[in-house]
Amino acid sequence: MAKAAPRNVKTIEPPKVGIVSLGCPKALVDSERIITKLRSEGYMLSPDYAGADEVIVNTCGFHDSAKEESLSAIGEAMKENGKVIVTGCMGAQPESITEKYPNVLAVTGPHQYEAVVESVHSAVPPLHDPYLDLVPPAGLKLTPRHYAYLKISEGCNNRCTFCIIPSLRGDLVSRPIHHVMMEAEKLARAGVKELLVISQDTSAYGVDLKYAEYPVKGLPRKTKFYDLCEALGELGIWVRLHYVYPYPHVDAAIQLMADGKILPYLDIPFQHAAPNVLKSMRRPAPVKEGQEKTMERLKKWREICPDITIRSSFIVGFPGETEEHFQFRLDWLQEAQIDRAGCFKYEDVAGATSNDLPGQLPQEVKDERWNRFMEVQQAISAAKLQAKIGRALPCIVDAVEGGGADARSQGDAPEIDGKVYLRDAEGLKPGDIVNVTIEDADEYDMFGVAV
Ligand code: SF4
Repeated sequence: MAKAAPRNVKTIEPPKVGIVSLGCPKALVDSERIITKLRSEGYMLSPDYAGADEVIVNTCGFHDSAKEESLSAIGEAMKENGKVIVTGCMGAQPESITEKYPNVLAVTGPHQYEAVVESVHSAVPPLHDPYLDLVPPAGLKLTPRHYAYLKISEGCNNRCTFCIIPSLRGDLVSRPIHHVMMEAEKLARAGVKELLVISQDTSAYGVDLKYAEYPVKGLPRKTKFYDLCEALGELGIWVRLHYVYPYPHVDAAIQLMADGKILPYLDIPFQHAAPNVLKSMRRPAPVKEGQEKTMERLKKWREICPDITIRSSFIVGFPGETEEHFQFRLDWLQEAQIDRAGCFKYEDVAGATSNDLPGQLPQEVKDERWNRFMEVQQAISAAKLQAKIGRALPCIVDAVEGGGADARSQGDAPEIDGKVYLRDAEGLKPGDIVNVTIEDADEYDMFGVAV
């Protein structure tokens, strides 16, 4: 039998793109969308500059040090590769990039995915190969396989004086609930065990769409905070809420936490407690209008769901903050017993209205107040974690190494909160949810063994 003549097979290398993703989880989700789109078009991802045909730098412009970090990342990509496309928050002020790096290929603003992809096409066109068009149904993720961020909206209707996000990202634009749920279901089907709901103001979800109703699995659901929590709670995976303000309509979600539908965890960026400072920060209404009401609300939430973890972030040294204001906040913190808190020293951000406020404080005052804040917060956190010793808590395993494992309890979000270190990881793998007996704790972390 005659042999078939060998076919003339020509191997065509797919174009490769590198990505440097800076900033917050919202920017990370933007990066994931960009790479998902590019991968679906046949581009490969390059882990280094040398192997990339071009490099995308997704920048952060939240404050001046973040901008400096972004500029230095662009500089590095220009030096190591030379074909650089810049996107993200800093892209909203393109001249701040092109003045320093006139040879970048393109600059696009935040969530301009199509424009980024078009810029990639013009620099290195995609290959047309149907076999390369296949991507996992849940898209490509930069997070570990077992958890994912779920972005429910862009932009913000608030106008806090220290923040330039609304000028960079615009007013609130919510994703309709059926779109969000479709993505959430895809992620759950792909093996994600924990969804982290993010936005700039999660409690305002749907206001811009007048809470429009859409069918989700045959049931009418409103594009609204509670409906979203309820629908996500039916997926049977962990659902964690970030960036929520204590509006009265949030109360109803606490019952979903008590019923085990969503995680007993709320991330509320209080930033301060003293009414005058909150007013000058122009914080959203429920934070600004009376700390007594907020305190009552926190107490009520803890009655409904005693295991709820409240995490927050605070700014020290805001312009005009007096020692009295600062002490008021420390006392408030003690009474509110905030479980987890991040604290930032105030710094000016180009374009923020707080830059022009009177009463800018010297760095030593900011440092001293930061230290005092952290001391009080550490003591609260340590006492809260000590009280968990002896209990068996459900924990999700993040990594297994050296015979032990890094896990997190329901009160710990990845990256920002503490960990639960397991001394024996036999039979465990990332994404497993196991009960852990807590044996010890320090200021931030717990230690235990899976039961
Ligand atoms: S709520 Fe305030 S701090 Fe948060 S994004 Fe909106 S304007 Fe910025």
